[in-house]
Amino acid sequence: MFGASVISNNFIGKLDDPEKVSQMSDTTTCVRAPEVSEEGYASLAASVHRASTIVFPDSAAYANRAERGADGYSYGLSGTPTTRKLQAAINELQTAEGTLLLPSGQAAIMLVFVSVLKPGDTVLVPDCAYAPVRSFCKNFLAPRGIHHRVYNPLASADEIAELFDETVRLIWVETPGSTTMEMSDVTALVAKAHASDILVGCDNTWATPLNFKPVSVGVDFVAEALTKYPGGHSDVLMGSVSVRDRDWFLSLKSMMSMMGLGVSPDDCALVLRGLETMPLRLRHSQKVALEFAQRICDQVSPDLVLHPALPNDPGHALWKRDFSGASGVFSIVIPDEKVSFVTEAIDCAKTFSIGASWGGTHSLLAPMSVAADRTFPWPGDANMILRISIGLEDPDDLWRDLQSIVDAIAS
Ligand SMILES: *Cc1c(COP(=O)(O)O)cnc(C)c1O
Repeated sequence: MFGASVISNNFIGKLDDPEKVSQMSDTTTCVRAPEVSEEGYASLAASVHRASTIVFPDSAAYANRAERGADGYSYGLSGTPTTRKLQAAINELQTAEGTLLLPSGQAAIMLVFVSVLKPGDTVLVPDCAYAPVRSFCKNFLAPRGIHHRVYNPLASADEIAELFDETVRLIWVETPGSTTMEMSDVTALVAKAHASDILVGCDNTWATPLNFKPVSVGVDFVAEALTKYPGGHSDVLMGSVSVRDRDWFLSLKSMMSMMGLGVSPDDCALVLRGLETMPLRLRHSQKVALEFAQRICDQVSPDLVLHPALPNDPGHALWKRDFSGASGVFSIVIPDEKVSFVTEAIDCAKTFSIGASWGGTHSLLAPMSVAADRTFPWPGDANMILRISIGLEDPDDLWRDLQSIVDAIAS
C-alpha cells in the first residue's frame, strides 16, 4: 500500500490544484500541506521565504533556469525574496549597482579579495584594518602567491601611491580605522588608484551608508558588517558587499556561488527589522557618544580621545568633508601607567558590558591591544586602547561607569 501511494505521487499535478491535493493520501498531505489563500493578506513585516530548492512550472523552465539571470530565482543558495529585499535596501542606501549578502562582515571582505586577486597580484591594506583582514592576507593569500603590503593610513594619498607598481590590483581602505580611528582621504585615493587601473575597496562598517556612501566617491567595492548597526541587536552575523560596476557584481556573485556562500532568510528578516530603527539608533548613539567624548577630552586630555567628529581630532577635516554623521563608537588611549586602574574600573562597570561586536543596543567596552597587529608604531605605543560603543541605555547610567574610568586615568 505504502509503495503504491509513493508511485502515485509521480502522477500528482501541480501544488496549486486543490482538487488533486484533496485526493491525496494522508502521507502526501503531510508532505504537501494544502495551499491557502493569500488574498487580502498584507503585512508591514518582512516575510520570511525559506528555500533550498526552487521548483519550476515545467521541464523546459527547469532546463532554461539559467536564463532567469542574476536577479531571478533558481536555487535557494542564491537567495529568496527575503534575501532580495535586504539586498535591495542595502543597495539603494549604498547607491550601488548590486549588493551581495554574506555570512559575516569578514566573509564580505574576503569575497572581494578572492574575487579580485590572482597569484602574483598585490593588495595594499591599511595598518588600521580590522585585524582579521591582515591574518587573511598573511595566512591565506600569501601561501597562494598573492602578496600584500601594509600602508600607513596617516600617510597622504601621494605617499600611498608610491607603493603602486604593476602588481598592485586592489587597495583596501577602512575609514575611520578599527580602534585607532584614522581617517583616510578616500576621494584622493580613488583618483590615484583608478589612474593606475587599481581597484578600491572600503570597509564602511563604522559609518554605515547613512553617514557615508563610498560608491558615490568612486569606491568599487563597499564591505560592511551588517552584524553591527544594521542588525543592531547583537544576535545576528551578516556582511554585505555593494559593488559600483555591474560586471564586477556578477563576477563576485559567481564566486560566491562557487564557494557555496549564502545567508539564511531568517537572518535577513532580523537585519531588515534592525534596519527600520537604524537611523534613530544611530542618531541617539552619535549624540551621546560625542557628548561623552567631549567630556572625556575636557577632563583628561584631547590627545587621548580618538573620535573624528571632535573638532581637534586629526581626521576631523576629512570626516567633515565626506561624512554626514558619526556612529556611537570611539576610543580612548589609556596611558601605560594607568592600565591597571582602568582595568579595575572596566571590571566594575555596571551598565556597560565587556565585548567586541559593537553597534547593538547594549553599550560595550573593549580593552584593545593593537600594537602586535601594527606595522607602524601608533599611537605612542600604548598598550591599551579602550574602544567604547554607546548603545541605548540611559546616558546618566552610562556616564557613571565612564566617570570611574576617567577618574582612573586622572588618578
Ligand atoms: C565587526 C567588523 C567586521 C567583521 O564583521 P563580522 O560580521 O563580525 O565578521 C569587519 N570590519 C569592521 C570594521 C568591523 O567592525
